[in-house]
Amino acid sequence: MNIILLGPPGAGKGTQARILMETRGMTQLSTGDMLRDARTSGTEMGKKVAAVMDAGKLVTDEIVIGLIEEKLGAGGAPGYIFDGFPRTLAQADALGALLEKLGLPLDAVIEMQVDDEALIQRITARSTCGSCGEVYNDITKPIPADGICPNCGGTEFKRRADDNEDSLKTRLLAYYKQTSPLIGYYYAKGKLSAVDGLQDMHAVAVAIEKVLDA
Ligand code: AMP
Repeated sequence: MNIILLGPPGAGKGTQARILMETRGMTQLSTGDMLRDARTSGTEMGKKVAAVMDAGKLVTDEIVIGLIEEKLGAGGAPGYIFDGFPRTLAQADALGALLEKLGLPLDAVIEMQVDDEALIQRITARSTCGSCGEVYNDITKPIPADGICPNCGGTEFKRRADDNEDSLKTRLLAYYKQTSPLIGYYYAKGKLSAVDGLQDMHAVAVAIEKVLDA
């Protein structure tokens, strides 16, 4: 089963992808994570995209399609979760062609609906464990007082460079201008389901399970 998690920054795509990896053993393909890895390891491509990412703009279709192409087919059974990809119509077309070439189905596209105010609150308060990627929120799920991640024992926590209000505005604009047309695109293909992403993460996970089991 291969699925796309679609939604604005802060909708909870990464959190739900992590839950699905645990519950279903699926493989998460997050282009955001791949790009951040390229930056950390200092590759030419990583250097090229750094400023674009920090500003909250989309990197080129060519780069992200290339990243996905490299990973696809490398044994994603029992299926892939596309997280943060596709983000443009060109990427959606390219993904369709890649899946077709590999004989893989696209089973569901799950739109995670969250209103803008909640997104800003979530993102500006967000941090993650540097070791396992567990997501924390200053208000709703603070880092434990002992400074130890209960998930993995890690003690280093990071905030993303683009998780600030300025960059977030650009990211939201990019979402509405370039990514939200994918809602109609996948609706027309009969693939789209929506879940209320404002609920707590366990309730969202249950809603996603219902879609996948339908
Ligand atoms: P994310 O972690 O998904 O929020 O992505 C962080 C940043 O990486 C985005 O703001 C973009 O600059 C870049 N990025 C991630 N995925 C894509 C994509 N599919 N297309 C273009 N840019 C992307």
